[in-house]
Amino acid sequence: MSKNLILSLTNFVRSLERLFLPYGGHPPALALAGFQHEHSTSSNKRAQEFSLKELIGDGMLWAVPKHRRSVEKRLNRKFGYPEYVWKPLKVKRNIRSCQTCGHDHELGVLCPFCYNKVLKETEQMQAKIQEKLGLDPVDKEVIVLYEGEKAEQTAEQLQGKRIVEMKKPRPMWFTKNLLQKSTQQQSEAKEVKPSDLA
Ligand SMILES: [Zn+2]
Repeated sequence: MSKNLILSLTNFVRSLERLFLPYGGHPPALALAGFQHEHSTSSNKRAQEFSLKELIGDGMLWAVPKHRRSVEKRLNRKFGYPEYVWKPLKVKRNIRSCQTCGHDHELGVLCPFCYNKVLKETEQMQAKIQEKLGLDPVDKEVIVLYEGEKAEQTAEQLQGKRIVEMKKPRPMWFTKNLLQKSTQQQSEAKEVKPSDLA
């Protein structure tokens, strides 16, 4: 099938050459003057020798585009689509400085520096808790206390709880009231000091 196709193609090219180029093909673009090129000497012989195999050699035919891409398409491929993917760099206008540490972060996103700080502290606390509890079931409430905080707690507060102590002072940013329960019993007191509100 393919052999027949190549043969017929060869014949077609040959007949085309005979039709349009009576001397068996045009001379090469860089021809020396006064030099007897094989094109001009043996046109008939040359036409007979011509074959598709010679033309292609050891290479292969690649698929090539048949139609030219329009300017719009080319520009879209180069720069992307503004509404979908815009490739050139854009100025970000949603960058804010962190109020706590001063590092820059995107608006509506946690500051990565502060987040990492909390993450590391949490990992340390988890490691400490794991060290203390081991594989025991968690049957009691676990509270984490920093250095010097156990003395502040009353015996009533520590009763029936597992205490995990961190061997370092409490970080400045880690306030105590973060650990307070959100579902607290309403107090009976009518007057509350402003310092007790938090
Ligand atoms: Zn920060």
